[in-house]
Amino acid sequence: MLDSLKSSLQSALDKIRGAGAVDEKVINEAIKQVEKALLLADVSLPLVASLSTRIKERAKDEEPPAGYTRKDLVLKLIYDELVELLGGNSPYLNKPKRGEETKLMLVGIEGSGKTTTTAKLALYYKRQGYQVGVISLDNYRLGAAEQLGQLASKIDVPFFADPSLPPKRAFEEGIKRLREAGAKLILIDTAGRHRDETSLMKEIEEVSEFVKPDQVILVIDANLGQSASSQAAAFSSRVKVGSVIVTKLDGSGKGGGALSAVAYLKVPISFIGVGEGLEDLEEFDAAGFVSRLLGMGDLKSLVNAMQLAEKEEKESLERMASGHMTLDDMLNQIRAFKKMGPLNKVLERLPLGGVQIDEEVKEKGEENLKKWEVIIQSMNKKEREDPSILDSQRVRRIAKGSGTRPEDVKELLRQYEALKKAMKNARRNKRLASLLGGARRCR
Ligand code: GDP
Ligand code: MG
Repeated sequence: MLDSLKSSLQSALDKIRGAGAVDEKVINEAIKQVEKALLLADVSLPLVASLSTRIKERAKDEEPPAGYTRKDLVLKLIYDELVELLGGNSPYLNKPKRGEETKLMLVGIEGSGKTTTTAKLALYYKRQGYQVGVISLDNYRLGAAEQLGQLASKIDVPFFADPSLPPKRAFEEGIKRLREAGAKLILIDTAGRHRDETSLMKEIEEVSEFVKPDQVILVIDANLGQSASSQAAAFSSRVKVGSVIVTKLDGSGKGGGALSAVAYLKVPISFIGVGEGLEDLEEFDAAGFVSRLLGMGDLKSLVNAMQLAEKEEKESLERMASGHMTLDDMLNQIRAFKKMGPLNKVLERLPLGGVQIDEEVKEKGEENLKKWEVIIQSMNKKEREDPSILDSQRVRRIAKGSGTRPEDVKELLRQYEALKKAMKNARRNKRLASLLGGARRCR
């Protein structure tokens, strides 16, 4: 799949991974390579330009979360922006309603893979327990109806076509028959060629008016270059395109033309076609797709961990700043803090205004962090969320469970209260707030 794009993107990433320190020059060079890779794969210039601008800006503005480096951050930004380009993080979710009639109409130019994809979708939904039926309204191309008919009988799905009838009549007859056969999810294959493009678009518009589809699915061939965008635009000026299926991503196509078209349309990709067989249809998920493109593995777990760390850090800090800090938040902060390195090193980097902290305090601080982590882990969820319920009986139980003394548990609770109060007052930048959160605990 998209082999040349894959290998050129991966070598751009390798450059970053291999660089010693990541400074602006390294970042810019890597981004240039990413740009080149995308342009060679036929991704359109304006899209590439805005993607690289975003990466550069974010690389300047954003800080890696605790425990991560600038290098990690840049790798993640490239990943993030590619995912964004392809529709963002939330996978396409638009399941047809069960038990209600739903009509999906496939459009696209001849050869894009409409007929094959209609059958693939029929099989996909049939396996999910839908009552599927298919109609061919391609009265233009000879043999189009038989092609779909054969595929439909192969997967044992009711089918209707009558090329001798005008499309409107064929549809009315077809839907009647399919309803009689109990079909609820009706897939409609349409013509992809006509005398000329204008008359094809006119027909598609007319067909859409009488079919009244719940969704129009545009089928785009991954082998199309830049012309994919104008094709997509032509269809979407006539009918409301609800999602796109990109076909032939298994081939040697560059893919970027089709992917650019999708980015312009701003509609989600619902599925991708990855082979000629009827099983060769995959649900599309931009994050997974980009992971494959970038040959993630290690990068994938990095991105996941960073996303989680960012999210937790953000939520945790928000709760803390609003005065609703839990012991889980404190635990998160302890862990984030520990990830930054040994405590004495961390303290050296803190903006403490030249205050010297003696070794003993540092050592004690390190010890405390460990102890508090174990203590919090010995509490149940309710206790972590609302430490005010901790009576002496619970304190004894927790001390026992964590191998500490009840005084240690009480000390932790005192620190927690102090931190909570301090956080309420600390309305500064987030990163500083998290550092201060850590510093206060060490006193
Ligand atoms: P239509 O004219 O839009 O209906 O396109 P067809 O469904 O007839 O497909 C045209 C050709 O593309 C056929 O040879 C299909 O087997 C092939 N095809 C469709 N989808 C895929 C795909 O995902 N991968 C590959 N390799 N071939 C495909
Ligand atoms: Mg066809």
